[in-house]
Parts: sequence; structure tokens; C-alpha cells
Amino acid sequence: MPVQVETLSLLNAVQALALGLMLWVGTHNGNDRALAAIRLRATALGVEAVAYVPLALQAMLPPVVLLVGSNALNLLAQGMVVVAIRRLLDQPLRLKTTTVIGLLGLAGVTWFGVVHVDYRLRVLWGSCAIVGNLLLNLEALRGGCRSRETRARCVLLWVYLLELALLMWRNGALWLSSNPPDQMATPSPVNIFYLLLLGMQPLFASIGFLLLYNEILRGELHELARIDPLTGVANRRAMAESSDRLLEQAKSWRGSLGVLLLDADHFKHINDRFGHEGGDRVLQALVGHIQRILRSGDVVGRVGGEEFLVLSPGVDETGLLALAERIRAEVERSPLEINGEPVHLTVSIGTAVAGPGDWDMTALRRRADAALYAAKRAGRNRVMSGDALA
Ligand code: GH3
Ligand code: MG
Ligand code: MG
Repeated sequence: MPVQVETLSLLNAVQALALGLMLWVGTHNGNDRALAAIRLRATALGVEAVAYVPLALQAMLPPVVLLVGSNALNLLAQGMVVVAIRRLLDQPLRLKTTTVIGLLGLAGVTWFGVVHVDYRLRVLWGSCAIVGNLLLNLEALRGGCRSRETRARCVLLWVYLLELALLMWRNGALWLSSNPPDQMATPSPVNIFYLLLLGMQPLFASIGFLLLYNEILRGELHELARIDPLTGVANRRAMAESSDRLLEQAKSWRGSLGVLLLDADHFKHINDRFGHEGGDRVLQALVGHIQRILRSGDVVGRVGGEEFLVLSPGVDETGLLALAERIRAEVERSPLEINGEPVHLTVSIGTAVAGPGDWDMTALRRRADAALYAAKRAGRNRVMSGDALA
């Protein structure tokens, strides 16, 4: 089948341009980090498209312009992809490394194309520059195939691994060929096949990039849906998940899980005195006090208006009561001021521990709830054990 390098290059240019335009127009509705990364990827596709133009117009251009122009644009596009992927994944951009790779790549390709003319060395040198950029991408995506949650990372990883294989094949075919072409524009089987596969690469990479964007967005939404916007700690849904997870862990390790249910005392008075906004600030300060006392591994979440749940793995009843008492005392002694006025905040806490033979989370919460209720009835600003009540 007679396939011309010019025709293929033109098709590749049109495809890269169309993909770039679609990505650009489709993401021009916001300004966050991920969208900026997609627009950079879209711009890179535009640059890739322009890089094919000298090849499509080779008959009208001096060979040096063709060589330097298309290689410079390709290396620029690759550098932009490196930055775009890293921006999307919130990783160090490696701008300097990819710039050095681009400049060295262009210098070597020009040397072997103009001064010491050798097509195979030129391709080898250019391939090394591409491999450098591919390795930066693979490094950014590494570990992507280990988890079900990062499937898109894995897909993009494979796209770049296949590109690596294509480069190795191209160089191998050139060095093993008895009659290698002397430039990219020569219509040899190696060049045609390479251009054909290379032309598909923007399509695969763009879809991979969009999948990655989708994956990151879903991850962010998942996080957002589990955070209480006022205090920044876990919300009721996240705490339900954490309870199940920690209870399962305690069960399988034959450990224990302590639960604290904490409610601010007379919070209505605080709202009445300082308004809802003042009350909100008190709640934020309260979370700070609780977090200061917790050990690593303990989890705190907001499960009601001014009601918080603490999960503490591996504690016994004495340890849990001591933890609750430290929180109560910390809140009582920490000075708080709203609009220059001192606020005297106290909390009541109910505790319960799950251990071997007693793994029912509903019963555990019920015991902590009953203890909290008892603490309120006994005069507030105190800790009561649900296990002692039971
Ligand atoms: P008690 O000692 O018996 O717990 O008394 P209390 O006044 O704290 O009583 P209760 O728990 O019934 O009232 C909770 C109050 O917390 C009522 C509600 O207006 C207030 N509240 C709930 N959510 C928020 C919030 O997000 N911000 C503010 N500022 N107030 C809240
Ligand atoms: Mg209250
Ligand atoms: Mg309450």
C-alpha cells in the first residue's frame, strides 16, 4: 500500500489539533489546578500538531528547518506533557530536568543531522531524549497499578511503556536494517510504521489523561463528602466507615476499640450570647483542643451539631477514661475569647470499650450515649463510663 510520509504527517497533525481543541474548549470553565493541567496538555497537543507540519510540507522546506523545527516542537510538547501530568498529580514539576533533556536532545539531533550526518545516531539521540521524558512520566505514575483506586494511572503508565517499546523497536529496526532510510521523510517501512503508531499516541495519551483527571476528581469528591466543612474533621459518614474499619481491625488482631462521645455543655447559651457565628468559632476551637490531646491512630469526627465522636484503637477502660479526662480538662482550662469576651466552655463525655466477645458497634455507641446522658444529668463537665453503667 503506497503511504506517503507527508499524508500521514498531515493526518497526525489534524488529529492532534482536533484532540487539543476538544480538550481546551471542554475544560475552559474553571481555574483549578487540575483544569490548568488539562489545558497545558491541550496546548501540548497543539504544539505536537504544528510539529508534524514541517514533515507534511517537507518538499517546500530546507532540510535544516524541517529537522530543527519539528524536533524542537516535539521536545517542547513532551516537556509540557511532563509538567501537565505532574501538575495533575500534584508532584514536583521537574521543569529544569525536562528543559535540559529538551536542549540536549535538540543539540544532539542537530549535530547528527547537520554537522556529523548520521540518521541512525540522530534517531538514537532523539530517542534518548524522548526516553528521558517518558521516564519522568513513568516516575510520576509509578505504583499506579498496585491499587484498584488508581486504575487510570495504570492505564497511562501502560501507554507510556508501549511508547518506550515503540522507540526500542524503531531503533532496533534501523540498526538491524541492511538498507536503513537516511531521514525521517524517507518513505521506508520503518518510518511509515513508526509514524502510523506515533500518530495514534496523542489519542491514547489524551484518553489516559482524561481518565486520570476523572480519577483525581473522584478522589477529591470522595474526600470532600467525608469532611465536615466547619471544623475540617471527619463527618458522620466518614466516622461510620472508620468505626467499621477499626472494629474489623480490632477483631482480627484481638485488640480493643474505645469510643468517646463528647457533647459541649450549654451550647445554646453560647449561641445566644455570641450568635451562631461566634458559636461556630467555639466549635472550631473545641476541635483544636480535642486534637491536641489525641494520640496518633485516634480518630475524631463531628457526628452532630456540637457532638463529637472519638475512636481510640487499642485502649482498655482505664486508658480510655484517662484520655477522656485529659480532653475534658484541656477544654475546661483552655482560655477562649470571642469578640474580646471570655468564653467558659466545658464538655461532657461518655465512654465505652469494645473488646473480645463484644464487637457490636451499635451497642457500643448506645453505651457511650447512655454514659453521656448520665454525665449531663450528673451536672455536666464530667466523664462517665458506659461500661461501668452497664
Ligand atoms: P447540653 O449541655 O444539654 O448539651 O445543652 P446544649 O445547650 O448544648 O443543648 P443541645 O445539645 O440540645 O443544643 C445544641 C445546640 O447547638 C443547639 C444548636 O443551635 C447548636 N448548634 C448545632 N449545630 C451548630 C452549628 O453548626 N453551629 C452553631 N453555632 N451552633 C450549632
Ligand atoms: Mg450540648
Ligand atoms: Mg447536643
